[in-house]
Amino acid sequence: MSPGAEENKLSQLPPEMIEFALLKTTGALAPRLGRISLAGRKTILTPAFLGNTSRGIIPHVSQDNLRKSIALNGVYVPLEDFVEKHPQQIPPIFQYDVPEPLRKFIALPEDTLLVLGARRNPPIPSPVANTNTDVGLSTSVGFKSMSSEYYAAAVRKLQPDIVVGVADIPFGQESVGTKRKDKMSDRTELWLRDIIARKDTLDKGEKSWSIFAPILPIERDLQSWYLEHLLEDMVDKISGVAIYDTYLLDDLPDQLHHLPRLSFHAPASPHELLRQISLGMDLFTVPFLAEATDAGIVLDFTFPPPTKDESASARRILGIDMWHQDHAAAVIPLSEGCTCYACTKHHRAYLQHLLAAKEMLGWVLIQLHNHAIMAAFFDGVRASLEAATFDADVSAFEAYYEPALPEKTGQGPRIRGYQFKSEEHAKKEKKNPKAYKRFDADKILELKAAHGQQPNRKPEMRGVIDDEALLGLVGMEQPTIEADPSAQLDGLKLDDDAKA
Ligand SMILES: [Zn+2]
Repeated sequence: MSPGAEENKLSQLPPEMIEFALLKTTGALAPRLGRISLAGRKTILTPAFLGNTSRGIIPHVSQDNLRKSIALNGVYVPLEDFVEKHPQQIPPIFQYDVPEPLRKFIALPEDTLLVLGARRNPPIPSPVANTNTDVGLSTSVGFKSMSSEYYAAAVRKLQPDIVVGVADIPFGQESVGTKRKDKMSDRTELWLRDIIARKDTLDKGEKSWSIFAPILPIERDLQSWYLEHLLEDMVDKISGVAIYDTYLLDDLPDQLHHLPRLSFHAPASPHELLRQISLGMDLFTVPFLAEATDAGIVLDFTFPPPTKDESASARRILGIDMWHQDHAAAVIPLSEGCTCYACTKHHRAYLQHLLAAKEMLGWVLIQLHNHAIMAAFFDGVRASLEAATFDADVSAFEAYYEPALPEKTGQGPRIRGYQFKSEEHAKKEKKNPKAYKRFDADKILELKAAHGQQPNRKPEMRGVIDDEALLGLVGMEQPTIEADPSAQLDGLKLDDDAKA
């Protein structure tokens, strides 16, 4: 297709709709190259990652630094960060009467793609159970529920570029019965229809948005009605899919293969990202980036990896713990060869000083660097796919680097109210921390459940995915499923409410 013809095709689409072009792929469950375009926004070449925001920003990174120092063309924003004391009080974001209020509210650059979902990735399991109409949330002031209609109305008001339909997933529940799974499928369909209906009734000239349909983390036959209806009468209304379990990607109906795939299956290491990419996932949020930053860990890997020195037997670490005493007087860049702002302007000794002094700048610099490493990683992945050397490069990467990120040793920044409490905070620093460990079967079930996933791994996927590592069940420091004590089950009874 000539560039001119492509422009024509773009211009025929409503200006608010994204276009996804599959540039290269070899099969249904194979890695692929794509391009997401939307008028007025920077084009995203996939595989790629979106900035995983907290209250509208990438943690530690102000919007001017986002613009200057992070090459990110899109961000993911969860609505639960903003609804606060709804419905007793109208959240401030809905009182902001300008075009594209969410973008303006969080001062997001005009050309950055804005993806809105209901819940964070990964979400904190909410003790407020989902109902036929409502989904449980964990807001900044406690657990709440939100109706699907409210979500649809919020989307209309906030005008994101892409909205992810709400999925009925009982996060944190280790064993979900068949009846409950039927419900998941029914409710998810209903809730998706609410979004579509809202979009169909927009006034003329009102800004529209693209819809990503959630694909549930349950077997295909248990969500078959939903998928059938999706294909029958919703497929023309959706522009992408949001996948909660990569193990089940081969269940995705063929008719949905042309759509971009956003992964809500949180990877815990670059290896797991590569496995998901090798199965054809396009977009990621990469929660381990901010986790590593908070732990004072500077990511240190490239894809494809450097040529392996055969005399060196040990695999290289994926990240450098800036709390380690070795760096106390090290006036070298955080990561050799990195050209990011932090590496070109500062050195490890200064970074360690900042962390020890609890200076916010420490985490700012690490976050900038970690995002630069991740951007370069995805650049490398796309170049490798282009050159058709991906499989060999993945093998080389696995041979070169350790399988998991290093364990956290130092203290992180102040934990925000809606973040997990971590067991690690109470522990004394270990003298020789193990690089990684395997959790027991119960712990694995619990962790999978926190991501909404059920013990339903299909035998035929075993050849593609080697172990629980895809979920990050190996080696990462894991949070306990314990909500912040200040968060209240019944948000309606907060003191401030009484005064209002
Ligand atoms: Zn750097």
